[in-house]
Amino acid sequence: MIRLGGGLAFPGELPNIVEEAAAAAAMRSEGLQYGPLYGLDDLRDAVVDYLAHDGVTAGRDNILIVNGAKHGLDLACRVFIEPGDAIIVSGPTYMTALAIMKTHEVEFIVVAQDAQGMKVDELESMLDARRRRGAAPPKLLFDVPDFHNPTGITLSEARRRRIVELAVEYGFRILEDDPYRRVRFEGTPVAPIKTFDTGDYVIGLGTVSKILAPGLRIGWVNASPEIVGRMAAQKCDHGTNPFVQRIVAQLFMNGKVDEHIDRVKQTLRVHRDTMVAAVREHLPGSMVEVPQGGYFLWVRLPDDVDADALVRRAGELNVEVNPGGLSFAGPTPGQFIRLAYSFCNPEEIRTGIARLGEAYRSMRAAQHAA
Ligand code: PMP
Repeated sequence: MIRLGGGLAFPGELPNIVEEAAAAAAMRSEGLQYGPLYGLDDLRDAVVDYLAHDGVTAGRDNILIVNGAKHGLDLACRVFIEPGDAIIVSGPTYMTALAIMKTHEVEFIVVAQDAQGMKVDELESMLDARRRRGAAPPKLLFDVPDFHNPTGITLSEARRRRIVELAVEYGFRILEDDPYRRVRFEGTPVAPIKTFDTGDYVIGLGTVSKILAPGLRIGWVNASPEIVGRMAAQKCDHGTNPFVQRIVAQLFMNGKVDEHIDRVKQTLRVHRDTMVAAVREHLPGSMVEVPQGGYFLWVRLPDDVDADALVRRAGELNVEVNPGGLSFAGPTPGQFIRLAYSFCNPEEIRTGIARLGEAYRSMRAAQHAA
C-alpha cells in the first residue's frame, strides 16, 4: 500500500533523539517525576524563542505545553464552547479539527476560500446577517493560515488583519493553528495573525509534529495568561509528559530543531515537485495549485470523476488517498482529493500517482463509454 492519505512525517527524516533521551533519563527528578501543569520552564522558554523568530512577542506565562495542537484545540473548545455555539471554519478545513469540534456539539459557519485564503468579505456578510437576525455571535474562528490543510493556501496579510478587526467587532476569538509555517520551500513568509492582535483575541496553537515528529506529542498554546490559566484548568493529565518535554527542550536549546527543519524542507520540496509533475502527467484534466510549503496537494478533479469512487478504485490498486469530502463541515463537493507528499519517497510517490492515474483513466473511459 502506498500511503498518500495521512499527513505523516517522512520516515527517512525522523530526528535521532537517543542522546537527548539519555540526558532526560539522567535528570531523574525532572524527567521521571510528575511535571509542572503548564510545562517545563525550559521548554516554555524555548517556545517563546521559536515564536520570536516569527515576530510573535510572548513570555513564559503565555505558553501552555500540551499533548499536540489537537489537544490545544480541544482545551480551547472546553473553555469557550457550550453545545450549540458557533465556530467559523473555512470550507474546506482540517478534517481532524472538525471531528474535535463536533464532539463539543458546535454549529459550523463555513466560509469559502480563494487563492488568498478565507474570504473575509463573505465572512463579514455572514456575521452581519447573523447579527441582524438576532443570532448569537460565533465564539471562535478556526483557521490554518500557512499552507492550509487541505488546500495548501496561505492567508494574505490583509486578510489576517481584517479577521482580527472582525474578531474585535463581533467578539469572537481566533484559533491560529500553524503547524506548517516553518515548512516553507520558497516565497516570503506572512506575519502570523497573532502579530496583528490588538488585545486578547488570538490563541496560537503550535506543535512539533511537523518540525520534529508527531509521535512526540508535544504542542503548545500561546495566549494571554488568563486564557492559558483557564485552559490549564481543563487539562486532566497532571501535565504533559515531562520526559518527552525534556527531550524536546534539549533539541530546541542545542539548535537541532532548526537543523532538522532545514533537512525536512529540502526533502519535502523534492517530494512536492515529484508529486506535482506526476499529477500533471497522470491526472490530465484535473487542477492543482502548487503550494509553497506544507504537506499536501489539493486536487480538483474534472466533473466526470467522482472523488469517492476514485479513492475506492485507488485503494484496490494499493494506493491510499483522502477523499476531499472529509474536509468539509457543510455540503461536500464531490470533486476533490487530498494527496500527502510527506510520507512516501519520490519513487513511491511516482508509483502511487501512476496507479492513481490508472484508476482515473479507467473511470473516465467507462464514463465516456456510458
Ligand atoms: N493542525 C493541522 C492543520 C494539521 O494538519 C496537523 C497535522 N495533521 C496538526 C495540527 C497536528 O496536530 P498535533 O500537534 O496534535 O499532532
